[in-house]
Amino acid sequence: MMRRLLPAIILVLCCLLIPLAPAASAPDSLHVLDSSVDSEFPLRLVFSIEAESGNPITDIRLMYQMDRMNYANVTSEAWPQFEPSTMVDTSWTWDMRRASLPPGAAMTYWWELRDAAGVVVETIPERVVFSDDRYEWSTLDSDSVSIHWYEGDAGFAQGLSDVCEEAVETLALDVGTRMDRTVDVYIYASSADLRQSMVYPQEWTGGVAFTEYGIIAIGIGPSNLDWGTRALRHELTHLVVHAATFSPFGQLPTWLDEGLAMYNEGEPDESFESLLYSAAGQDMLISLRTLSGPFSSDSQKAYLSYAESADVVRYLLDEHGSTAMHDALMYFKGGETIDEALTMSFGMGLDELEEAWHASLEGELSHA
Ligand SMILES: [Zn+2]
Repeated sequence: MMRRLLPAIILVLCCLLIPLAPAASAPDSLHVLDSSVDSEFPLRLVFSIEAESGNPITDIRLMYQMDRMNYANVTSEAWPQFEPSTMVDTSWTWDMRRASLPPGAAMTYWWELRDAAGVVVETIPERVVFSDDRYEWSTLDSDSVSIHWYEGDAGFAQGLSDVCEEAVETLALDVGTRMDRTVDVYIYASSADLRQSMVYPQEWTGGVAFTEYGIIAIGIGPSNLDWGTRALRHELTHLVVHAATFSPFGQLPTWLDEGLAMYNEGEPDESFESLLYSAAGQDMLISLRTLSGPFSSDSQKAYLSYAESADVVRYLLDEHGSTAMHDALMYFKGGETIDEALTMSFGMGLDELEEAWHASLEGELSHA
């Protein structure tokens, strides 16, 4: 009987002790002394923690959730290295060479600690934004987008904001879809500045849509506003279309994804059109089935891939309208195959579409 009483007595003693000894100064309680995040854009984020306990701290883990589209609420874990001790000061570095994050990517993080006595402490979740603080950003908010920029006046930003709002409206008409979150657009002053914001930049990178984050990073100076306007519409289309079709089941054929983005840039680009007509005239068109996968890295073939994609999407919208296009996107989202999705929305599979589109191209060629 005595042995069973003992825990009860200890419990009562503990209860009596608590009001006398506040947690922060109790020598045997596990508590966090300090927690911080240092950001070194674009290379790394360093999460630091300092804690003490009357018993050796044996387990520390960082838990974090990215603010991005997910199929489920995903919590990631990271383990900083340290020797078990009553006093611990350690950190964990998120090396972006393994997972490059866009500027403005946001996440929520907290720490979980445990000591040898089995005491567990969880810190209050905090939000951290991976900002590119090498620049002084200004922000202009409108209905659908937030423009962030650091070079050029307010009129420059207003112009770009108008381009985005207009593109969002056009997309709502063309494909019947809207974003349910605000898009953040980071306007770098040049492509060179943009590339410096990336861990692994590509030579030709002028704009990037980080679709899962709802973030666009793009290099637009006041001197290349025409290019910038088209590029912005292009990337915004990717974002809206990806948000509308985000699902674990399906993927859009590349020609449809890029074709919609090209179509929404505005008036067809003449150099792309002449490339398209000359390839059609020489019977050198790349098949839509090939263009359903990743585009060629060969630049000539890549140009033709974009030109064809833009034109076949224009053909589909002209002939079948935006409701059919919206249906197609929803079938793709649901995981239908390319042929099924096209048949259910446009009444023809990929080969029939290709035939019909080639015929329309030949008609245009003979009139040209
Ligand atoms: Zn694109």
